Amino acid sequence: MAKTSNIPVTLIEQSAYAETDFDSLGFGDAFSDHMLLCDWADGEWKSPRIVPRKPLKVDPAALGLHYGQSVFEGLKAYRGTGDNRIRLFRPDRNAQRLAASCNRLCIPAPDPAQLVDWIRSLVAVEAKWIPAQFGEALYIRPMIFATEGHLAVRPANRYTLVMVAAPVGQYFAQYGRPLRVKAEDRYTRAASGGTGAAKTAGNYGATLKPMFEAASEGFDQILWLDGDEHAYAEEAGQMNIFFRIGDEVITPELSGTILPGVTRDSVLSLLKQWGIKATARRISMAELRKAAESEGLLEIFGAGTAAVVVPVDSIQYQDFDIRACPPSANSLSQRLFQSLLGIQHGQVDDTNNWIQFVDIE
Ligand SMILES: *Cc1c(COP(=O)(O)O)cnc(C)c1O
Repeated sequence: MAKTSNIPVTLIEQSAYAETDFDSLGFGDAFSDHMLLCDWADGEWKSPRIVPRKPLKVDPAALGLHYGQSVFEGLKAYRGTGDNRIRLFRPDRNAQRLAASCNRLCIPAPDPAQLVDWIRSLVAVEAKWIPAQFGEALYIRPMIFATEGHLAVRPANRYTLVMVAAPVGQYFAQYGRPLRVKAEDRYTRAASGGTGAAKTAGNYGATLKPMFEAASEGFDQILWLDGDEHAYAEEAGQMNIFFRIGDEVITPELSGTILPGVTRDSVLSLLKQWGIKATARRISMAELRKAAESEGLLEIFGAGTAAVVVPVDSIQYQDFDIRACPPSANSLSQRLFQSLLGIQHGQVDDTNNWIQFVDIE
């Protein structure tokens, strides 16, 4: 069993635990007591440490704030519902993806194995913050940004890695309420050759206005389309998107404009293991419309760490509505939701070795 390394820990004097409302956890309303900090200077990541969570001191000309040289990750620590043991789900994948995002933004990447170790250390210190209910978790948010104060548009020579943790509830209250989605045919999330495959700050700031407009028209979420023609499905908000047509499940292929989700990859693996045809390929709105019209579009669902798996009821694209069949007892999205959370909470066998335990002595 992997141990966590010896990172210096300064414990908080007054924990916020007692004042935190664990009965109505949202997503990001509450944070745990500590954070992990690490600095990059003189060619290396130095002095990782866990300290009480507090505001950072930042140079007002920090390059990360001005030019968006900033990347992040998101993963969860779960509590076993039967054994109470703490589980991380495929943290190595998040660590590798952070390195890939760093690479795209010219940020010196922390070694992925080292980063997993830091995640484990923070989770071990914050163990009491991991909520107990099925579907709840401690969300871990590692983030790296350029801290050097300068004005030139160039890679910085100083960075800070900060990792905070937040006890979270189920993102979309319960599995069940299907989302109404708007296919966005004017704004673009990611263009080919851009930064769509990286988890970098600028990708998200640019989606706020389209998301606000979609919400004011009564939609829950946006389906992003390709930047060239706005004719092919790419992603649903901060989730990867899946379509079940007949006996096949299709998700857009990783073309460079799509975030390579850990949940996406896990869904593809589970479907294949269940003997279901699962394909990553380009899929057009015209094909989806045709499938819906012939009642072959059985399911639409989104998948991501925050929301797990969420059914989509309809997608409005220009002036027509693409509707999935009504949810049924044998819906794959429901089965995937239960299986993923089941593995994460130790109720379903982890046959793929996706779980890493964090044991506290
Ligand atoms: C993080 C993210 C996802 C989901 O990735 P997971 O690793 O499954 O959490 C999908 N799309 C976007 C744009 C994202 O930022």
